[in-house]
Amino acid sequence: SVPLTTLLKEMLEFMYPRFTETNIIIHCDLRDEVYIEGDSSQIKQVLLNILVNAVEELSEWNGERIIEVKLKRNLEKTVELSICNNGNPIPDYLLENVFEPFVTTKSLGTGLGLSVCKQIVEKHNGTIEVNSKEDFTCFTIKFPTIKESS
Ligand code: ADP
Ligand code: MG
Repeated sequence: SVPLTTLLKEMLEFMYPRFTETNIIIHCDLRDEVYIEGDSSQIKQVLLNILVNAVEELSEWNGERIIEVKLKRNLEKTVELSICNNGNPIPDYLLENVFEPFVTTKSLGTGLGLSVCKQIVEKHNGTIEVNSKEDFTCFTIKFPTIKESS
């Protein structure tokens, strides 16, 4: 059993020096613990890959830099995690392929971060989606939840 809220807080804390260094403001609304079934270190990897991308994108953005993190439980059965940042959106031609390996717009990018996210999320019976337009990008991940004791 993996405490998703706790892992998310842990990864936000881990990234905190990079957020401040890049003048990023974090908006987050994390209250109750939510448990999912799976592997903590893999889930941390997913959170980290998405947060690192947000920082990398925002470091190119002149203006207010915001990352918003939300965790929402649906009917006790699933949890929806969204990590959004403002900045330049993902170009349309890339949007359909961002979860494919080796797709990158960065000169030193590997293009592996999001493909690893998708593999891990799907192995946990979850889904991952991206929504990117105008001046924001949002990654939404859904997982089945479990009771703490299982
Ligand atoms: P990499 O970070 O090595 O480029 P990723 O798989 O992590 O590989 O991301 C693939 C591409 O998706 C990035 O190169 C970038 O163009 C786009 N992307 C990912 N996350 C964001 C984001 N938060 N905002 C804007 N573009 C993004
Ligand atoms: Mg990346």
